[in-house]
Amino acid sequence: MSDEYDVVVAGASTAGCAAAMLLAARGARVALLEKRTTMDAHKVLCTHTLQPGALPVLKTLGVLPELEAAGARQHVTELWTPWGWIRPRPEPGGPPLPQGINVRRSTLDPVLRRAAAETPGVDLMLGEQVSGLLEEDGRITGVRTGGRTITARLTVGADGRGSTVAAHSGLPARVSANNRLGFFARYRGLPPAPSRVWFLDPDTAFAFPNDGDITVVACSPAKEKHSADFRRNMEGSYERFIRALPDAPPIDEGERVSKVIGTFDLPNVYRKPHRPGLALVGDAALATDPVWGVGIGWALQSAQWLAEASVRGPGEGLEEYGRAHRSALDGHHKLMEDYASVRPFNPFEKLLLSAAARDAAAARHHQRFAGRLIDVKEFVSPPALLRAMRVNALHRLGR
Ligand SMILES: Cc1cc2nc3c(=O)[nH]c(=O)nc-3n(C[C@H](O)[C@H](O)[C@H](O)COP(=O)(O)OP(=O)(O)OC[C@H]3O[C@@H](n4cnc5c(N)ncnc54)[C@H](O)[C@@H]3O)c2cc1C
Repeated sequence: MSDEYDVVVAGASTAGCAAAMLLAARGARVALLEKRTTMDAHKVLCTHTLQPGALPVLKTLGVLPELEAAGARQHVTELWTPWGWIRPRPEPGGPPLPQGINVRRSTLDPVLRRAAAETPGVDLMLGEQVSGLLEEDGRITGVRTGGRTITARLTVGADGRGSTVAAHSGLPARVSANNRLGFFARYRGLPPAPSRVWFLDPDTAFAFPNDGDITVVACSPAKEKHSADFRRNMEGSYERFIRALPDAPPIDEGERVSKVIGTFDLPNVYRKPHRPGLALVGDAALATDPVWGVGIGWALQSAQWLAEASVRGPGEGLEEYGRAHRSALDGHHKLMEDYASVRPFNPFEKLLLSAAARDAAAARHHQRFAGRLIDVKEFVSPPALLRAMRVNALHRLGR
């Protein structure tokens, strides 16, 4: 059996649903293939905090009201540093701070999948696992699944970190080690608290309140120091680590409603995101260190950049897509990759974080960076560095 579409998308999760909807909105007929068999399937290995940078795409997709109605929690994340808490506050009389949202994947993924299925021009096909690519004269012309082939002017790999599409594409990948572990559990009934991140340099930890009165409590300790303990006793090591945090989330006041979930190995994978007839979006293109909570936002945004680059039609504009992807994410990912090596904070990070813990404007600047609303260059721009030096000089003088 063979079918013909304008676009075939492999993977109906955050990147794939967004790509299908946005390309269909530009008039394309889209086959959206998902290997899992139910509408409610969702990614489990995820702590699902979405940065402010993700929200414009959710708005464009029209799903934000439904997520809010389902209890998605807006957040301005507070950050523990060796210099104290960074607690961003709006400028007096100024605009509100940009907010992200925390929403469980068991809520988010089905909302996106249903919205994609209801989008005119999108045919969602569950239980269809892409197993290979079709190619003609150096151009990808579609996909092979268990039972059939689907041809299209544009094939989109949105099949996540272990992407089959990427593996068959021949596109080059840069893989680098992540020297932290990643473990989390879900708690019901913890006392109300803002979203919080601990940067213990080098270990990190997180507590994110979500819809359904569920708080995700996570930790990413350095592998070298903690691997053996976690391998010996994962649950005990996780709980000990969380209880020992400064201003620790009071996990004993709530009920743990999940196993301790996580992984010992999560390398960073960065691929060239296109070749003729093919684009990779989301984790298939860039699976970065989850410590920063950026993957879902980047999955949604990369889908949007692809759709915007496709103005001349599906399969056109892929070089533009590649440029947009690189220009938005390359700098952020390089810094994340470097930090994933478990190096200590560099002098710029020390300067900017310490100032942000002491000064409201510096805290707002840091929040815009962590929310991925400004790039690395702007984060370490001369005015930001000068302000931070001034803040720290006044701090040393006791003012
Ligand atoms: C421990 C951990 C914590 C994280 N926490 C956060 C966080 O707090 N915030 C954040 O923003 N990001 C987080 N991330 C990253 C985030 O989960 C990913 O970046 C995001 O899910 C990427 O979306 P995606 O749509 O590209 O891929 P995925 O969500 O992985 O979806 C891929 C889809 O493709 C389907 N698929 C796979 N293979 C095939 C195939 N051959 N054929 C058809 N379908 C296929 C899958 O079933 C799935 O539905 C975390 C990641 C990890 C590992």
